[in-house]
Amino acid sequence: MTTTFPLEQFQLLRTPFYYYDTQVLRATLQTICEEKEALGNCEVHYAIKANANPKLLPIISSYGLGADCVSGGEIEAALNAGFPANKIVFAGVGKADWEICLGLDKGIFCFNVESVPELEVINELAGTMGKVANVAFRINPDVEAHTHAHITTGLAENKFGISMADMEAVIARASDLENVRFVGLHFHIGSQILDLEDDFLPLCERINALQDQLEQRRIVVENINVGGGLGVDYEQPESHLVPEFKRYMHLVASHLKLRSGQTLHFEPGRSVVAQCGALISRVLYVKQGTDKQFAILDAGMTELIRPALYQAHHKIENLTSKGDLEKYDVVGPICESSDVFDKGVCLPKVSRGDLIAIRSAGAYGESMASGYNCRALPEGYILEELI
Ligand SMILES: *Cc1c(COP(=O)(O)O)cnc(C)c1O
Repeated sequence: MTTTFPLEQFQLLRTPFYYYDTQVLRATLQTICEEKEALGNCEVHYAIKANANPKLLPIISSYGLGADCVSGGEIEAALNAGFPANKIVFAGVGKADWEICLGLDKGIFCFNVESVPELEVINELAGTMGKVANVAFRINPDVEAHTHAHITTGLAENKFGISMADMEAVIARASDLENVRFVGLHFHIGSQILDLEDDFLPLCERINALQDQLEQRRIVVENINVGGGLGVDYEQPESHLVPEFKRYMHLVASHLKLRSGQTLHFEPGRSVVAQCGALISRVLYVKQGTDKQFAILDAGMTELIRPALYQAHHKIENLTSKGDLEKYDVVGPICESSDVFDKGVCLPKVSRGDLIAIRSAGAYGESMASGYNCRALPEGYILEELI
């Protein structure tokens, strides 16, 4: 499979914009569905925060995935896109009262609870609404994901989750409360994880140990949710358009000692949408410095903040030049020194007006765009509306 870039149509569009090759997205979703069927007793919830574009969400929901939401707005976006309420989970350390009430009102599957005070507020609000809320506890497994420090979430002193030492007390607290029902355990160790064995096997072992501990106390756990985190190949997107879902899901399922009747949940975000998306930009100027040259784009950190925020690397391609290779620092127009996409990039000779693709930008790209410098939010186009 290769990515389709409809260049003639691109020429007619105002840049910068996001472009999504929905054939790549569909192939990815197909792979997920096949592995989910092969495993049985498995649910996959797409993490909406990776990309909430209303043209993509209905495609994702049409493959039978559920939604992992981290705000009331995401719950609304998921429902509008056809995700059934009973396949929505609601995570996040700081759920506001109105967001909890929205989840209760819509009858979402489960709240992934991150603290005792939150559990008590959910219980209270559910009581006033005459409902019982399903709750899973997000346990902090103290497993280190080998990824960028800003995107590890599973270490002991992290704002996320409940510590393993507190787990039993929190489950006991839930059983004292009338309007919550304990339905499972939730884990999420970080993002952009490529070393599957190194990071996911310790998580599986930790979960197995916790399960043994709970079994001794005769505490029944219906659902085990291992979160998201599967990484994508940002260096060579075209050779790995569909991430390693089969190996990843199989690895986790085969190392977890699931009890009979337990459902295994995955919450991939990045790996579902990253490779289908590209940020398409036009070169405004080529500027000669003393030792280097700059390609100044009309897209910047307002459209794609990952390089500035996480020192993330995205492959950059010149879609319209066939010239000889030259080196460029590729930068945006925003008034910040960190507004640099990459330095020393080899590109076919760049000229004003060339179309540049910043690849693997489907995840945490459009969804993190901002209006800084009074810029308009970027449009997002999908393949089938352009051809
Ligand atoms: C962000 C997030 C995910 C998705 O993570 P990816 O690395 O994009 O797969 C899953 N679960 C939770 C709780 C999250 O916060």
